[in-house]
Amino acid sequence: MKITDSVQYIKGVGPKKKAELARLGITTVYDLLTYFPRTYEDQSVLTRIADLHPGEQQTVSGVITKLQERQGGRRGMTILTALIGDGSGFLKVTWFNQKYLKKQLVIGRRIFVTGRAAYAFGGRGQFEMSQLSSFEVLTGEEEPAMHCGIQPVYPATERLNQKFFRKLLQEALAADIELPEVVPASICREYRLMPRREAFETIHFPKDFDALKAARRRLAFEELYLIQCGLMLLKKKVQQSATGIRHAGDGELLARVRKSLPFTLTHDQESTWQDIRRDMERDVPMRRLVQGDVGSGKTVIAMLALVKTVENGCQGALMAPTEILAEQHYESFCRQLQPFGIRISFLSGRLTKKQRDAVYHEMAAHETDIVIGTHALIQDDVQFNRLGLVVTDEQHRFGVAQRTALEKKGSCVPDVLVMTATPIPRTMTLTVYGDLDVSLIRELPPGRKPIRTFVRRPDRRPLIYRYVHSQLEEGRQAYVVCPLIEMKEDSNLPSAEEIYDELRYGIFHDMACGLVHGRMRPAEKEAVMEAFYKGEIQLLVSTTVIEVGVNVPNASIMVVEHADRFGLSQLHQLRGRIGRGSYASYCILVSEGKTQQARERLTIMAETADGFRLAEEDLRLRGPGQFFGAMQHGLPDLKIADVLRDSDILIEARRAALASLARREDLDFVLPVLALQYREQFQHITES
Ligand code: ADP
Ligand code: MG
Repeated sequence: MKITDSVQYIKGVGPKKKAELARLGITTVYDLLTYFPRTYEDQSVLTRIADLHPGEQQTVSGVITKLQERQGGRRGMTILTALIGDGSGFLKVTWFNQKYLKKQLVIGRRIFVTGRAAYAFGGRGQFEMSQLSSFEVLTGEEEPAMHCGIQPVYPATERLNQKFFRKLLQEALAADIELPEVVPASICREYRLMPRREAFETIHFPKDFDALKAARRRLAFEELYLIQCGLMLLKKKVQQSATGIRHAGDGELLARVRKSLPFTLTHDQESTWQDIRRDMERDVPMRRLVQGDVGSGKTVIAMLALVKTVENGCQGALMAPTEILAEQHYESFCRQLQPFGIRISFLSGRLTKKQRDAVYHEMAAHETDIVIGTHALIQDDVQFNRLGLVVTDEQHRFGVAQRTALEKKGSCVPDVLVMTATPIPRTMTLTVYGDLDVSLIRELPPGRKPIRTFVRRPDRRPLIYRYVHSQLEEGRQAYVVCPLIEMKEDSNLPSAEEIYDELRYGIFHDMACGLVHGRMRPAEKEAVMEAFYKGEIQLLVSTTVIEVGVNVPNASIMVVEHADRFGLSQLHQLRGRIGRGSYASYCILVSEGKTQQARERLTIMAETADGFRLAEEDLRLRGPGQFFGAMQHGLPDLKIADVLRDSDILIEARRAALASLARREDLDFVLPVLALQYREQFQHITES
């Protein structure tokens, strides 16, 4: 059997199961093999019923001593209850709606159950288990098949349970599947990687935890190694094609623009600018990521780079993730650059076809120098006359694939500058942006008034909003951020709509209030944002749509309702919307702080304004899934490697990839693997 074969060739998979598996993204044998366990249960340790601890995952072995079946609930579900004894005590086990189990559950039979125990209702200290994570009934004298060691726990579904996955993977591994090696032999030897087949067998059915660790390391290494090879080859390819644009040293126009700036660059801004300038002056195309906290002043850097390309007779493009942001950039660029005769155009989905065609014409005929817009800017049919530089602002979606697409556009490869305020940990930068060079802006421009952050309980809301009201009376503007749009989503929480109504009919009845959320049509959203931007709205209730980049210096106060519902990085981004002017700014996080963790997180928010520190805390407290879940980065999802936990493996994999890049035989080995496994991402390098 080949790994590319359909899962239906595996015993136990009929058309029905095949369809269910497909819904989980499993269509081939390989998909199944890489459907890795979510966690493992150590069932080799049996707990005596008398020694059970409530709430912990434990395995018990006993004999069924009593059985009961009854109908319950409004829908009349079947409830099966068994009493299990092991000599030390009795445990009550309940199954809901699994009538078919009656055949197996027979008094006198031995049963193994794994799950969390809880004190039985009215049972005087007796334990019960209901939602079992697994169980097995022995019908005769046979050895227990399942309960004999470390068991994998798969992300199961209602219709595809643990038992099904365990059985299916056993079948799959028993079938004779071709599992060709994907890492060159020399690398396997040097890094002492477990053989691939053994790693797959072990990751699903580990003998012990040491073997499991070695298997995980091997598979994570393989994943990271291949991606690193791909990214490095991509970079090398870009650098070798000497078709980049060689910008000349800084000229007079740039000097005049710099002189016109109302401030001097900070040290970090200056050194970032020097990195960029140097890149642009080489004939190797620039691929640079600028990471700088909210408000660190990335826009001006982008502006200088764009002026530089214009000065060299090229065109530049600036892409923003939202229309509003694009428009803001457009306005500030016009203000700054038009006095120097630089022509700036705005391209947006809101333009009529006629207007858009006019802009396309300006671009193609080089009647404009800088085009600012959303990511539609680099879409297929958009033609530039001489594109020298593309800047993307806050655009995570601008992944490898798009960078690659640019390389195919036109005869000259433009320089690329990616700017982000998301503090991406270094390991992540290496994985996702491995083909980019990185510049950091860590300091904020001088004279910023720090934002004072407070954590308050909901019973203080009247006071909080009275204070907000007094600020509005002084001419400031305010944001109120809520996690939800409508009530339906989670009935326990007030929605943005409810809070909006509460405020505008209540204490803020004498102020102009507005509401924005993600479900509004873009045009509606824009209209409200624009009114806020122009000061026509004083209090803006919103969901997280205001997160990126919006600049309203007069807004000096923000209230975040149910602040514990947000990640720290997200709160940090939100908070970055205030403190942009010369006014003292306040951020009030409203939270009940029910759990220790929620309290801890929000306290950190109040203590630090360092985006990197907050990102790290976020990762520590919430895990990478949640943190990166929101980021689309155009790379394959990591199936097993974990950017946080596996930074050691990543460093090794990176070193290995670097060595392989210089070895012909390694490349000959790796290229076909990339073409097969990561065709979409690395198409460009595997084609030739
Ligand atoms: P971000 O990095 O979040 O995109 P911006 O580029 O929007 O930040 O800059 C935030 C504000 O700081 C802007 O009003 C900008 O004019 C101002 N600014 C940028 N650089 C400096 C500087 N060196 N000194 C003073 N103010 C600056
Ligand atoms: Mg910005």
